[in-house]
Amino acid sequence: EAVRRKKLFAANDLAAKYYHHILMNTKVGEPALEYLKGRGLTPGTIERFQLGYAPSAWDVLLRFLTKRGFSEDFLEEAGLLSKSQTDPSRYYDKFRNRVMFPIQDAQGRVVGFGGRVMDESHPKYLNTPETVLFHKGRHLYNFHRARNAIRQTKQAVLLEGYMDVIVAYQAGVENVVAALGTALTPDQARLLNRNAEEIVMVYDGDRAGQNAALRSSEVIKETGGSARVVVLPDGLDPDEFIRKHGYEAFERMIRDRSMSVTSFKLQKLREESQLSTQEGRIRFLTEAVRIISELKSPVERESYLRQLAGEFDVSLESLSMEVEVATKSLK
Ligand code: ATP
Ligand code: MN
Ligand code: MN
Ligand code: MN
Repeated sequence: EAVRRKKLFAANDLAAKYYHHILMNTKVGEPALEYLKGRGLTPGTIERFQLGYAPSAWDVLLRFLTKRGFSEDFLEEAGLLSKSQTDPSRYYDKFRNRVMFPIQDAQGRVVGFGGRVMDESHPKYLNTPETVLFHKGRHLYNFHRARNAIRQTKQAVLLEGYMDVIVAYQAGVENVVAALGTALTPDQARLLNRNAEEIVMVYDGDRAGQNAALRSSEVIKETGGSARVVVLPDGLDPDEFIRKHGYEAFERMIRDRSMSVTSFKLQKLREESQLSTQEGRIRFLTEAVRIISELKSPVERESYLRQLAGEFDVSLESLSMEVEVATKSLK
């Protein structure tokens, strides 16, 4: 078993090196290299993240790795080849015509890949399927590079995508990681909690991103960690924000504009509410009180309640009574 794992690591490592070589040194790799430079990545960054290109042909990696002694069915298990639907004795490269992002484990060993198309076709990203080495709910993209910075700053910055992480890292924000296309799992949250006092989530500004931030914040809380949220303006993701406003603005957002999960929930509720009608305002207040009731600390509760009371011109007493009602109905 240990022998097999070692061989799986070797196959993934060779694949990463080969894709990288194609990107950097061949004619077929040129459009992909242009694509990555067009997205603002420097050669140093492309090197550091070992980015690559998987060509369009169906047997490029297949031929490269079988020549080096790996069997086709082994490479399928490694998640690098797919079996033909029509002829199960035939295999082809799983990743074709995609920019390749190697995904490494906490020790820096390649365990899988994300591959992105260079146009608008679907799926935009393809990931390695679950294999003996690759469990997408356990790994965090860039964790092995970010770990020292996370420990030093006592803070982990959680982003959504590969490009977000790479662009932020290139800009000098090194404590950045991403979950692999899902909301954070308990395993991933524990990994971050062990290394950081606080996790700052900067998810995409779209609805999907904001909902994922909410789910992830629950997971962080349930695993004993502490989370804050940054909402970027205009629905931008970190990659777009950094390119538009620069990394200093991004650092400022993280430093000065992060909010508690409660504030984030209240802001989201506010945006979804009809505050122009009395019924809408009452519904908002009732739901807001329910959110605040989830807080354990009386001081924290009171501070949010005071804010609401001031804003909506209701008494703190009546809001506190609402909290009691909400707390009872929770039990
Ligand atoms: P880009 O900037 O290259 O367009 P992105 O990271 O902004 O990419 P999003 O659509 O915001 O792309 O998705 C965020 C992350 O979710 C991706 O980086 C990827 O990890 C994951 N993801 C997106 N689409 C898929 C997919 N079809 N399958 C698996 N994972 C995906
Ligand atoms: Mn998105
Ligand atoms: Mn995005
Ligand atoms: Mn993006």
